[in-house]
Amino acid sequence: MRINYGKIVSPRATPQSRPLPGRKQVKNSAGGYVWRVDDWTRLDRFLVLGSEGGSYYATQRSLTFDNTEAVQRCLAENGTRVVDRVVEISQAGRAPRNDPAIFVLAMAAKLGDDTTRRHAFAALAKVCRTGTHLMHFAEFCQAFGGWGRGMRRAVARWYNDMPADKLAYQLVKYQARDGWSHRDLLRLAHPKASTSAHDQLYRWATKGTLPDGGDDTLAMVAAYEQAKRASSVREIIALIAQVDLPREAIPSIWLTHAAVWEALLAKMPMTAMIRNLAVMTRVGLVSPMSDATHTIAARLASEDALRRARVHPIAVLAALMTYKAGRGARGRHTWEPVGKIIDALDRAFYTSFGAIKPTGKNTLLALDVSGSMTCGTTAGVPGLNPRVASAAMALITAATEPRHDVVAFSTGLRKLDISPRQRLDDVVRRISRLPFGGTDCAQPMVWARKNRIKIHTFVVYTDSETWYGKIHPAQALARYRETMGIAAKLIVVGMVSNGFTIADPDDAGMLDVVGFDTAAPNVMSDFARR
Ligand code: CA
Repeated sequence: MRINYGKIVSPRATPQSRPLPGRKQVKNSAGGYVWRVDDWTRLDRFLVLGSEGGSYYATQRSLTFDNTEAVQRCLAENGTRVVDRVVEISQAGRAPRNDPAIFVLAMAAKLGDDTTRRHAFAALAKVCRTGTHLMHFAEFCQAFGGWGRGMRRAVARWYNDMPADKLAYQLVKYQARDGWSHRDLLRLAHPKASTSAHDQLYRWATKGTLPDGGDDTLAMVAAYEQAKRASSVREIIALIAQVDLPREAIPSIWLTHAAVWEALLAKMPMTAMIRNLAVMTRVGLVSPMSDATHTIAARLASEDALRRARVHPIAVLAALMTYKAGRGARGRHTWEPVGKIIDALDRAFYTSFGAIKPTGKNTLLALDVSGSMTCGTTAGVPGLNPRVASAAMALITAATEPRHDVVAFSTGLRKLDISPRQRLDDVVRRISRLPFGGTDCAQPMVWARKNRIKIHTFVVYTDSETWYGKIHPAQALARYRETMGIAAKLIVVGMVSNGFTIADPDDAGMLDVVGFDTAAPNVMSDFARR
């Protein structure tokens, strides 16, 4: 029998284990051929997703090294652009964690050229907004060569430029992290105090001395010292009311009293409130009928307050998963979860994304539920693997788009009965229970074509480690467009900070976005509408 050479290497259907003829593709970790994202996209992926927990194919360590190399290439190409990107993503609270932004800023400050270094140090206070951030920065810089003159000056400026009352709060709240303390930083940076209040604060932080009748801004510090010696709940409550002492400034023996937490709650920042829901429930402040429950639910409903506090949806989802469980990660503490708080967190997840403009297009949300998506943790949250995280992410678009359908694919495809009307933790549980196998990212397009389903936008949530299919996703999309006569688009939502994508960089109808970037849903909606 004569062999049809043309058919075997047809540009219409190439197995994923082979590269597309004539196209510059790379082998992914699963052995399939995909495209490499450019280093700037990779930078975004790292800034938003980090590399904590690694992935199915890479350890945390090697994933971090790979990302660091990509960042270095970006620094060599345009260091100022790197710093600007870090500031942009960090300031808008687009990432679940600020650590990758601080890390990349440290790289720019230590490894960039002169202009980049200056630019990085000038951005220090924009990215490192708290004492903890600053200590992380010091720790990361240590890895790239430690302190120099530029670093000392920048850290000195960080302290001097912060208004004294805000600085007093920072000194009291975050005393030490990562083996660094304010005392260490102040001794190394040795700032020449910009005001007498700053001078007194530096003396207190480095030597522990506090002058009698010092500046008003020292009231916070004085109250903190007084709290250490307090002998009654009433005394503690009075101190909290006087100067808004944060929880970190209260000796732990008092933190078992509901009344103390009630006083703290009155001025508690949003992020602290979300982090302390369990303890406030455990001490009895939060209960089904209590005022505190009402207050918390009302605060969680405020889009404005969520945005101002840069509350990331992942933080809300993590809080919901932990709170709902009724026990701490180490199982030491237990509490009786209050339904009203769970519901409020569920709503806050959607609210924290802000307003998203619907496209009204037929949108297929396709979740990669293959084995590799079950490894690693999103933003270091236990139980939140890329597979579960992408389901949560898909619900955001599902909540916005009136015409959507959700499917899950591995080697085959199945319809998925999840909706934003269900509670997030139920969806998470359902996704966690699905069986998994190999990966074929072409499945959504193959399925839609075979069943003649009208789709304008395919949204695929994946790590792009596709290898199993008989046809490349890009070819499957081309065939879908041809058969259906629809200029369908493909959005790839990258859920792991690797360097791969199934989106053809030369096809204007395909787009890469980063999973859990809070800006992603609007970018997706703009792209789909265009
Ligand atoms: Ca996979």
